[in-house]
Amino acid sequence: MLLIDIVKKMVRVSKALMVKSPAQVDVRYEAMHHPARYRGEHTVDYETCIGCDACNKICPVHAITMKHLPLKKQNIVPEVNLSVCIFCGLCEDACPTKPEKSIVLSGGRYDMLSGGWHEEQNDFWVNVDIPQSYIDSRLEAEDAARVKKEMAAKKRAAQAAAKAEAAKRAEAGEEPKKEQKPFDGTPDFSKGVEG
Ligand code: SF4
Ligand code: SF4
Repeated sequence: MLLIDIVKKMVRVSKALMVKSPAQVDVRYEAMHHPARYRGEHTVDYETCIGCDACNKICPVHAITMKHLPLKKQNIVPEVNLSVCIFCGLCEDACPTKPEKSIVLSGGRYDMLSGGWHEEQNDFWVNVDIPQSYIDSRLEAEDAARVKKEMAAKKRAAQAAAKAEAAKRAEAGEEPKKEQKPFDGTPDFSKGVEG
């Protein structure tokens, strides 16, 4: 009986030793608890960010720097200095993009306890790496939008000029000028053939 008790105790102790206690968890790399609204390292979605600067303006400790992009619209995206950030989450709250926020504090990074205040500070930045192909495609889209806008402006100007001309003729009592159809190569036989 005594021997069985000893064996049972030994099994219990060995099982307990195999389970990692919270004190043994290296919190630099592993979180003990990971709640749904955990505020970790920021993630920035450069494709949905509209470059409104709201996150930068609301940051109480100036942890955000706006990175400039060679685009007309969305010409800035946020980058965060985590060694200054106090993880208040205001930047995420202020971000207006929907349905998803373009800046969220959900990144799973736990090694921010290591290093020190000034050491390896460059490692404590959330940098936004935007591929050149993305920039090129946005530039193309911006170019196409510009051409479309110019064409629409020209059309509007031509319509306004025609309207003004018609009003002028009406004022002078002249017949309204017939709208000339552009010549499409088909001869006009409605007036008969001469000769
Ligand atoms: S979490 Fe707070 S302190 Fe950190 S970047 Fe956002 S607004 Fe600034
Ligand atoms: S608030 Fe959101 S949309 Fe505006 S610049 Fe920051 S991340 Fe981009």
